[in-house]
Amino acid sequence: MRIKAQVSMVMHLDKCIGCHTCSVTCKNTWTNRPGTEYMWFNNVETRPGVGYPREWENRDRFKGGWTLKNGKLKLRAGGALNKLANIFYNPNMANTEDFYEPWTYDFDHLIHSPKSKNLPVGRPKSMLTGKFMDKPEWGPNWDDDLAGGREIVPHDPNLQNLQEHISMELEKTFMMYLPRICEHCLNPACVASCPSGALYKRDEDGIVLVDQEACRGWRFCMSGCPYHKVYYNWNTHKAEKCNFCYPRIEAGLPTVCSETCVGRIRYIGVMLYDADKVKEAASVTDEKELYESQLSVFLNPYDPEIIEEARRQGINEQWIQGAQNSPVYKMAMEWKIALPLHPEYRTLPMVWYVPPLSPMMNHIQNEDELSTDAYIPAVDQMRIPQEYLASLLTAGDVKVIRKVLMKLTAMRVHMRGKSLGDIDAFKHS
Ligand code: SF4
Ligand code: SF4
Repeated sequence: MRIKAQVSMVMHLDKCIGCHTCSVTCKNTWTNRPGTEYMWFNNVETRPGVGYPREWENRDRFKGGWTLKNGKLKLRAGGALNKLANIFYNPNMANTEDFYEPWTYDFDHLIHSPKSKNLPVGRPKSMLTGKFMDKPEWGPNWDDDLAGGREIVPHDPNLQNLQEHISMELEKTFMMYLPRICEHCLNPACVASCPSGALYKRDEDGIVLVDQEACRGWRFCMSGCPYHKVYYNWNTHKAEKCNFCYPRIEAGLPTVCSETCVGRIRYIGVMLYDADKVKEAASVTDEKELYESQLSVFLNPYDPEIIEEARRQGINEQWIQGAQNSPVYKMAMEWKIALPLHPEYRTLPMVWYVPPLSPMMNHIQNEDELSTDAYIPAVDQMRIPQEYLASLLTAGDVKVIRKVLMKLTAMRVHMRGKSLGDIDAFKHS
């Protein structure tokens, strides 16, 4: 057994209000230099939506992550032909159109324009070319808060039943926020893709970094990462990515996104894991088993034998204490309410998510039904489809999602009942 410590994060999606404070504070800290304008190490996606870069989960086009071939892990975009193609034109890489052409506004014009009848307008100006743009075509969060509403307008020009159609479709709409950073995976495809060995996973805390000296700008990492969380700096011609605010972590501080998060949705914690089990855990045949198999790599930080072995292998005392006080361990392993994003990418991601609860679609007619017992099965009527959450967090296993939602609902009912004095009071709230 090779014991390693890993910093990790759980994001509690029920608490995210989509304010983007995390993205802005991260940008001000890390990507406010020339060449990084379009980079959002942290971004917040409105779901269902196309995300950033656009349609990053489209695995037919972006061939990131790992696949199984004859029982062995292989990079999806790792073939010799693909590598050759990448040198000239990387067909699997998200490009400027997929991210966006960053722009600013002509603020000078707003300030210095002569007096006129109409208000002056600041025209959008490309931050890449410095030229004015007719109108920006695309940007992250372009479809913010549309809740899938793009799809309710029928393509059929016959508008006879428009109202009925819209109300039927509106019933099906739902919305949630998904903040994303690099997953600092246990089996990082970015590291495996880099021909220069510039990407590496730190031994002491598992943070995945790019050695700026060693990077030769091949960009294999950009297409290798299935989460599309590596970016290319057009000014330095090097790859850059979220570094889990490692200088802050080293100083015992949380990441900037966590510290500034308005909804307090982010929990940082240490996990101890067995590095010898990583490849095996990523190689299970059935994708739906990947979540359970990832759990099998984590070690119990309360087991004295594990701790003794960890000390023997040189894991520092602070990390051991961190693992024993880890909210991530509690949510992922003890309570089993946090789940990995897209486990089917087989990278064993280390930013996990508590799925959001959502309002029920059918009103409960009889108030007496609103007891604890009746409320819990109501997870099946929640607005966000369990299938959708399963496609994000459990490679399609709805059973796991349902179990988590039940636990969260039961806890919510319990806490409300407790804070309001008794469960009857909750009935009338
Ligand atoms: Fe690498 Fe981060 Fe992508 Fe994982 S999410 S493959 S660690 S860049
Ligand atoms: Fe969500 Fe927190 Fe980011 Fe606001 S700051 S969008 S609440 S993760």
